Amino acid sequence: MSQPPETIDHPATRTAGRLITELSREETAAWCAAAGQPAYRADQIRQWLYRRRASSFDAMRDLPAKLRERLAGDFRLFASDVVRHQVAQDRTEKLLLRLSDGEDVECVLMREPGRVTLCISTQVGCAMGCVFCASGLLGVKRNLTTGEILEQVLRLDRLLADDERITNIVVMGMGEPLANLQNLLPALETLRADDGFGLGARRITVSTVGLPAKMRELAARGTPYNLAVSLHAPNDELRTQIVPVNAGIGIDSILAAADDYFERTGRRVTYEYVLLQGVNDETSHALQLADLLWGRNAHVNVIPMNSVAAVELHGSSNDRAGRFVGTLSSRGINVTVRKRKGADIDAACGQLRLHELTAPHGNAPSS
Ligand code: SAH
Repeated sequence: MSQPPETIDHPATRTAGRLITELSREETAAWCAAAGQPAYRADQIRQWLYRRRASSFDAMRDLPAKLRERLAGDFRLFASDVVRHQVAQDRTEKLLLRLSDGEDVECVLMREPGRVTLCISTQVGCAMGCVFCASGLLGVKRNLTTGEILEQVLRLDRLLADDERITNIVVMGMGEPLANLQNLLPALETLRADDGFGLGARRITVSTVGLPAKMRELAARGTPYNLAVSLHAPNDELRTQIVPVNAGIGIDSILAAADDYFERTGRRVTYEYVLLQGVNDETSHALQLADLLWGRNAHVNVIPMNSVAAVELHGSSNDRAGRFVGTLSSRGINVTVRKRKGADIDAACGQLRLHELTAPHGNAPSS
């Protein structure tokens, strides 16, 4: 497992030509005031960013031309170039964005009837080192800024048809969201805000490897985000093999923090469990997991592993997965199996960036 560098914040946040999405509503209003503009201009700007899908300042038609020029002089609207855009057979779409410092970040759009879910990243790479995951293979490079987190939503939103709307967000892309909570929280505020994307907290899921102190910090805010905890094993010995960061944490303290989250927010916690053939998919593991979660208001989401080049592990066979899930439900545990989306475009987190880093193939969008 690689250690994060001392500071992994992106230095470009405080320089000129700032990314407009780094600004809160209040900061946008303050900028308008300084520019001698009425307060409602801030609302208009945010409308164009988060509702009206503007792709340039010039497209913000109901702003005076002078103001549009001034915005373009002071800010950037986007922080990245789209270097790959892939569309899967099931209409899942994936973007690889190249940030201003050359780092790559991935985000995914998934469609189901009546539902459009985005999966977004919070860090370049990941420090957690889960053995089956592509994102962590090369360690963490840096945190994404608030604007860079929102940028993924802006970019994907602009791929939607006029009558399509984002309905759900899962923070399950690259990185450990709770290791970058300070930049993630303002982004989540904009996703929820009435003058932002207007999504209810219940439509937003934050997935964590299980960092108890940060889980409690999020719980203390009381906002009912969905929390998903990547458990992947029913005992510490096995979990530490699969999720090395567990060595200094332990399942008990994670479950206690998850219970606290439920108490403070009223949201039932989801436990994610990637089934790895011959590693964590025995009936004895299912029984141990059922014991662990018994009496808790919990839900288990079993995830078929997406194969990752350079990783020797494989997903469990359908037979073994079926037996595992059957054992859990026979013990009274709520369990669902995650649907696979976008399998033909390497949609599992970190796969595309890894591919770019190990086999560069130019900048041409692939679709
Ligand atoms: N760091 C956070 C969020 C990012 S990963 C976390 O650990 O939860 C989001 C989910 O995808 C996690 O449950 C993670 O374990 C899972 N995941 C990562 N790589 C995967 C793969 N190759 N196949 C299936 N699930 C994977």
